[in-house]
Amino acid sequence: MKIYRDQDADLSLLAGKTIAVIGYGNQGRAQALNLRDSGLAVLVGNRADSYSEQARQDGFAVFSLTEAARQGEVILLLIPDEILPAVFAQEIAPALEAGDTLVFASGYNIAFGYLQPPEDVDVVLVAPRMIGAGVRDLYQAGRGFPAFIGVAQDHSGQAQERALALAKGIGATKMGAVEVSFAQEAELDLFTEQCFGPAFGQVLMSAVNLLLDEGYPPEAVLLELYMSGEFSYTLAKIAELGMIEQTRLHSRTSQYGSISRGLRFMLPELRQRMAQGLEEIRSGEFAREWSAEQAAGCPTLESLQETARALPLYQFENELRAALGDTPDLGSFLASSTGAAPQHTKPGPIPKESWLERLLQRLTHRARTQPALPPLDATQASEIISRFLEYAAHDANLQEFAQDRQITSHYLLKDIELEFYLSFLDGEVTGGLGAPPETAQVRLETSAEVLDGMFSGSIDATRAALSGKIVFGGDTRLALGIQRIQGDLRHLYQKAREEVLGSKS
Ligand code: NDP
Repeated sequence: MKIYRDQDADLSLLAGKTIAVIGYGNQGRAQALNLRDSGLAVLVGNRADSYSEQARQDGFAVFSLTEAARQGEVILLLIPDEILPAVFAQEIAPALEAGDTLVFASGYNIAFGYLQPPEDVDVVLVAPRMIGAGVRDLYQAGRGFPAFIGVAQDHSGQAQERALALAKGIGATKMGAVEVSFAQEAELDLFTEQCFGPAFGQVLMSAVNLLLDEGYPPEAVLLELYMSGEFSYTLAKIAELGMIEQTRLHSRTSQYGSISRGLRFMLPELRQRMAQGLEEIRSGEFAREWSAEQAAGCPTLESLQETARALPLYQFENELRAALGDTPDLGSFLASSTGAAPQHTKPGPIPKESWLERLLQRLTHRARTQPALPPLDATQASEIISRFLEYAAHDANLQEFAQDRQITSHYLLKDIELEFYLSFLDGEVTGGLGAPPETAQVRLETSAEVLDGMFSGSIDATRAALSGKIVFGGDTRLALGIQRIQGDLRHLYQKAREEVLGSKS
């Protein structure tokens, strides 16, 4: 694999060309400033608002998007990916001329076919692996940052050289640019967001929940696991030295413990789930789901965000941050050219009328108001579910919900090795024990206890999913859509539950 550096790129290819930066947000501002400081002629295209005011204050000539695209020969498209296709069709495409170069900072819209550039332009990718603030800071520090470059369309015969020259202009080839296809960039980016990041988040959640359940003080748990900044410091060292080499920075006890115990966490299932997520991305299933969500005004996203903010962890974090004051400033360490260790800021004392006390009160209150249901055994669970599915099949409300719908949900209760499905297919509701006869759009894996709590109303399904008690797979929009009939499902489940348990007592 080739890593392109400054000596592989020729800035003079862009000399005398007008570079139009469309959008003056995170990437737009940083890249426009860097390109200008690299000696290139840059103008900005933005709607008339605070962003364009900022661009003017930074000394750029600012035009409407269409006018900037008309004047530019190299056009950097630096507005949010979800907005770009419509803006491109209406305001950019009409202003393009043969021989122009269109530059994307993300492969998404080209990879998934949401944007079709004309044939007589170059289409290149220059995608920093760095947030906008870092693009500017690291350029100014003379350090650079990595980037992906790529070519989707080479009209001029010089597309790759132009992409490299731009990568040099923004400061990326100082550290190194790697060539990928638009699809690879988009898939890797989405994989990190949808598989690696969330898996990592769930590891953190599991650790927080376990330690809190075991009675460790919440402030100590959060500080130990991540809020001290020690963990992000270690991540910075992993980036700098490598996973194995950085272990030298830890004690021998830590080295022995983490390597020997690390073997326990090699879970084949984790890889399977990641493979499933990657397949959803590659097949375009995620892109289609996200487009539908945006067309509907993002109700699912809002509901997920709201639920995440209601999680106790969110409250803990806010209160601990307020109690500690500023957390260690790792940003300055990451931007420093020496990579020297940051000065450790000692956490301030936790205030007297402690938030911990209030927190414990809240937790005790919750425990009192939401008594856990006695656990069901496998026979009880399967009898209740069979009866519930039968009721569901004949329920008029559910049949109405099933009109014009084709959703099958597959439930897996691993602890009691029971699976069942519920389908809403063109007005008909069917269900049964075992795997569904057709492909399920929604998969839900949990324990008998959580399912029982969810259908009995003592557990909120979205919250349980966000705290790792339920694992959702498939289309999240459809899964949350089913929440609309949660009341009906609960009613039928409770009826079945009472009948089965009542008849046993
Ligand atoms: P921002 O969210 O910071 O973009 C804001 C800019 O987009 C502003 O100039 C805003 O101007 C403009 N904009 C927003 N809505 C519209 C609209 N409807 N019509 C016209 N202009 C609009 O984007 P980023 O910089 O984060 O992302 C830009 C590109 O860079 C994307 O392709 C992204 O994937 C990629 N990227 C981003 C990274 C990051 O760290 N953020 C990292 C690497 C790549 P106004 O509202 O005034 O119109």
